Amino acid sequence: MQCESRKITQFLNPWIFALVFLAACTQNSSVNSNRIVVIQPSQGHCQYTIAPANFQTLESYREMRGKVGRVLYSSNNLDRNFDILKTGFGLKPVDTDFVNSGDALMPANLDTLFAASLYFSVEVGYLLAKSIDPAIDLSVVIPNLSDTRIVHHAKRLSNTNNSQKEIFDNAEYLSIARTGLPTLNYFFSYPTQQIKEIPLGLNLGVMNHEFSHLIFQHLFYEPGIKRNLEVGTDKPTLNTLAALDEGLADYFGFLATKDPGYFLCSFPLENRDLSLPKSFSPQVISRIESSSGEYFDSHEGGAVWASIQYEIGQTLGNHQLVGKSLLKLMSNILECPNTVRGNTLNFNFGDLARCHQSILSTNSQAQSVARQIYLKYLGSYGAGL
Ligand SMILES: [Zn+2]
Repeated sequence: MQCESRKITQFLNPWIFALVFLAACTQNSSVNSNRIVVIQPSQGHCQYTIAPANFQTLESYREMRGKVGRVLYSSNNLDRNFDILKTGFGLKPVDTDFVNSGDALMPANLDTLFAASLYFSVEVGYLLAKSIDPAIDLSVVIPNLSDTRIVHHAKRLSNTNNSQKEIFDNAEYLSIARTGLPTLNYFFSYPTQQIKEIPLGLNLGVMNHEFSHLIFQHLFYEPGIKRNLEVGTDKPTLNTLAALDEGLADYFGFLATKDPGYFLCSFPLENRDLSLPKSFSPQVISRIESSSGEYFDSHEGGAVWASIQYEIGQTLGNHQLVGKSLLKLMSNILECPNTVRGNTLNFNFGDLARCHQSILSTNSQAQSVARQIYLKYLGSYGAGL
């Protein structure tokens, strides 16, 4: 445990000095309690800064609670205390402490700085979806959005190779279905152990990757479950869905940061830079078609899908349009003749490209650009496009 906190501290060291310095410059002028200093990206690849941000959905800064959720702390291991996870009760409020600094509130310790930055990243996701498509207000789509638990320093176990290990160096979105009650939404920011660069919970792109999983859950999975849709086996639908979820998430992480390489700020060696073209090669397709269950890495096909969307957006000079069409795709998969027949979903990435093109059909330039780019990277999935 000591080791983790030292590493986080190492990363935050320059900011601690900034905190002390700014706190020393405290002026008791009129403080705006919606203006809070957080860790956020500045211009350039992997450049982060500590600066005030204008919060738009906060109801209580002391409790870090608002329209998009509430930041909490897990002192117990949640998988050993599953009732906490199931009910959402038993997580502790983060003990926040602020000082006034100019017209903003300055976190007085690292936990408060981390908690405010976590809330900020989830708020960015909410506002981003709304700005891309004003018809989508996630607080309406998800009536219990404000009940979302944003867990700082989450303690959970992963099950790998039949052994349980505590999770480090990760972030996660988790939905818990509850009988007779709305689905409970969680974001987890796990402790940092190995990462020497940006901790996952402070990487705005990674947290918005996770936020995209929440959107997909509520625009696709929840309505699909309500309609009793089945996942067919004529095509690799289950693996395609998992990879699509990851690909959409990678793209929304980019939309939040404007940095196609945001993932590398935490994991420099991963092939997740959206600006590097990737294709559905025979090897990638074979893994989607034949891998089963825990052996399938959904991030690989997802990264290809995300790079395709990035290139469409770059070519059109309009990522807003691509983002809006992808939000529409999330719900349209449940209706598109290419992806659903009767009560059964059956599709591969070629069918998803067709469904996406039908959404873009109101804009002939966008449709044609998307078609060219899909043909370039879909491999055998592009046949007959
Ligand atoms: Zn993901």
